[in-house]
Amino acid sequence: MFASHMIVPVPKIEDRVFKKPLLCGPGPCDLWPSVAEAVTRPVLSPICDEFFNVLADIRAGLKYLFQTESNLVLAVSASGNAGIETVIANLVAPGETLLIATRGIWDERAYDVAKRQGINAVQFRIPFYTTFSLEQIERELKKLKPTALFITHGDSSTGTVQNLVGLGDLCHKYGTLLIIDTVVSIAAEPFFMDEWGVDALYTSTQKALGGPAGISPVAFSKRAEEKIKNRKHDPPFYFDIKFLAQQWNCYGNTRLYHHTMSPPLIWALRCCLMEVCKITLPKFWERHVQTTAQFHKRLQEYGFKFLIPKPEDRLVTVTTVVLPSGYDYMEFVKYLRAKHNILIFGGLGPTAGKALRVGIMGVNSSIEIADTVAHAMADTLRALTKSSL
Ligand SMILES: *Cc1c(COP(=O)(O)O)cnc(C)c1O
Repeated sequence: MFASHMIVPVPKIEDRVFKKPLLCGPGPCDLWPSVAEAVTRPVLSPICDEFFNVLADIRAGLKYLFQTESNLVLAVSASGNAGIETVIANLVAPGETLLIATRGIWDERAYDVAKRQGINAVQFRIPFYTTFSLEQIERELKKLKPTALFITHGDSSTGTVQNLVGLGDLCHKYGTLLIIDTVVSIAAEPFFMDEWGVDALYTSTQKALGGPAGISPVAFSKRAEEKIKNRKHDPPFYFDIKFLAQQWNCYGNTRLYHHTMSPPLIWALRCCLMEVCKITLPKFWERHVQTTAQFHKRLQEYGFKFLIPKPEDRLVTVTTVVLPSGYDYMEFVKYLRAKHNILIFGGLGPTAGKALRVGIMGVNSSIEIADTVAHAMADTLRALTKSSL
């Protein structure tokens, strides 16, 4: 039927088979074996009891992950970038001021997102290889008294970790809400949402949580909830936390249908949280410290240098590594993939052409993998030296 109307012929789509690489970039990361199984579980209707029970499990797991007793905890159906949109759109109205502490590309992204929402976005910068002091931040808060401050906890473009202790109190002194990007730090770096006075955060499944990309957990404090309750503006429908909270039953058994969530991703997130709960956070944090200490020790033995000068500024999940002069970063990444089937990334944003970005986190956080990756990098360095002689 209608064959004569067909203007596009049937395309040839064949199987594409390739050997799975070891994922050691800043994300996406390898999946827990249990998560690979969880995504094949049955599809659930978005309005049945079983489905709402799974959402309840996820909310309990997220409260543990973030260390918060807040009720406004759920996951947005899209990747980490949707988390940026969600927290900013729900908390900061067009015309209000968002101060962005900028040291890497996620802060630049927050700036772009805020600008498009008609927000008065203001950036202040430090060199990308450092982190902020409370004094630097207080000076800007005092000047602007912004609605919110945006800052990235772990920055995967630079390999730095920002100290957050004391920042919440400082923000609240100036009537400012504290927004944190925890995408590449959560589960690997210690994090205490309530104790640190964090008002909103977002994260993603595809980094240390060991799940697939496409679902972005978010959380809001009591203070943030008040702001949302009293706001006069409407954020985009898909990201409106007032509807999402009713779909996720954050305030009792509301069971609103807002959109159809992806059952494989819901199962996956639940399974990631179960894995973290099984290990417990303090032990998982400690495992990341041990693994990265081993990786850094090996890198130094093999003559590699770190991009981030101060050890206390170095992120536990993503290490930025400097090659001896004369080496091509992209050639290094290519060789490591071709010869060792290990996937790492070159620099991004301020670190483009200046460093490699190596991520050892989540299910891959082990002494064996730290050794394997460091050995393969040493071999790559030798091979590229030889070929250029
Ligand atoms: C990966 C990453 C993001 C973006 O997450 P997507 O899932 O790629 O949208 C945001 N912030 C940081 C710090 C990241 O490392």
